[in-house]
Amino acid sequence: MEVSKSTVKAFGTTAAAAPLNKMDISRRAVTAHDVKINILYCGVCHSDVHTARSEWGPTIYPCVPGHEIVGKVVSVGDHVNKFKVGDVVGVGCMVDSCRDCQYCKEGLEQYCEPGMTGTYNSPDKHFPGNLTFGGYSESIVVDENFVLRIPENLDLAATAPLLCAGITTYSPLRHWNVGPGKKVGIVGIGGLGHMGIKIAKAMGAHVVAFTTSESKFEEAHRLGADEVVLSKDPHQMAAYRGKLDFILDAVSAEHNINTYLGLLRVDGSLALVGAPEQPLPVAAFSVIVGRKSFSGSMIGGIAETQEMLDFCGEHNITADIEMIDIQNINKAYERLVNGDVKYRFVIDMASIN
Ligand code: NAP
Ligand code: ZN
Ligand code: ZN
Repeated sequence: MEVSKSTVKAFGTTAAAAPLNKMDISRRAVTAHDVKINILYCGVCHSDVHTARSEWGPTIYPCVPGHEIVGKVVSVGDHVNKFKVGDVVGVGCMVDSCRDCQYCKEGLEQYCEPGMTGTYNSPDKHFPGNLTFGGYSESIVVDENFVLRIPENLDLAATAPLLCAGITTYSPLRHWNVGPGKKVGIVGIGGLGHMGIKIAKAMGAHVVAFTTSESKFEEAHRLGADEVVLSKDPHQMAAYRGKLDFILDAVSAEHNINTYLGLLRVDGSLALVGAPEQPLPVAAFSVIVGRKSFSGSMIGGIAETQEMLDFCGEHNITADIEMIDIQNINKAYERLVNGDVKYRFVIDMASIN
């Protein structure tokens, strides 16, 4: 029998302005429905930076980020039947939800009415008085219903970013029926945006990538974009006025949303997945003229996350990654904020030892 909790090595932060450092955290013991996962790889999402730095409102510290987790099952609870020791699995942004509200029943656990349990920085209802801690750590304990199967043909490190960047782009692309005959804009070619290009292309859409970075201009074609636009150039932007059916906006900082609404056709929709710190002003006539929709989308449900992983397995889609040791996480955050990563940092968790 396991003790009621275990001490686990992790990297986290104790204040908004503090760097991430080595720390020990407590995880709950494996209960009947839990699996314990030794973490092999964890992607570095811009949301990790927003949260570690309290950019979305006050974060509770200590905070151990990381919600793009791939690892190996090392122990299972008595009632676990979906996974066994040795399985390679993934964990994304959620580790629990109420499972009873209308949205949980519809497979939309991310919109759970009482609120889903985030992989980090949420109260852990199975471990009273404790917060959840994320994937910048050697292991994690998760209810089997929030654990995903990883397709066998995919590179494990490059698959980690699918658990957030993959599902966050897949879900809205599906919801807004992106596919053959649709012209889709992807704005911001970072971790999310580069996955958005690959997935929208695999869904059969005509993909137009919008970037502020000249260095990504040529490469966006390699990722699958049919056309690439340097968004700082008003002449290039003007050529797309009224041309796009759907736009997925994955920008992490303030930018002019009205410019992009202007690129939609009548009845077109722009969905925000990027979550900048400050509000984005929308002019009334940006949506009135052309009956346009301005909306948003958050990650995806568990069943849809499995569907996305299987889709990526079928289409051989993974992220373009730069592998780092956990000791370089603060440097990686700086580079991420400066747009200097192609296109996702992934932590090799063996480095924690
Ligand atoms: P990222 O890798 O840093 O990518 C963001 C991209 O936005 C950059 O690569 C850059 O693309 C563009 N950008 C950055 N600053 C800009 C500026 N000032 N003006 C215009 N463009 C700028 O971040 P990420 O991990 O993909 O995350 C993107 C955003 O989505 C973050 O805010 C994150 O918190 C949020 N997010 C939301 C969800 C959700 O469920 N909705 C899930 C995960 C993440 P270019 O160089 O191509 O211009
Ligand atoms: Zn994320
Ligand atoms: Zn619920």
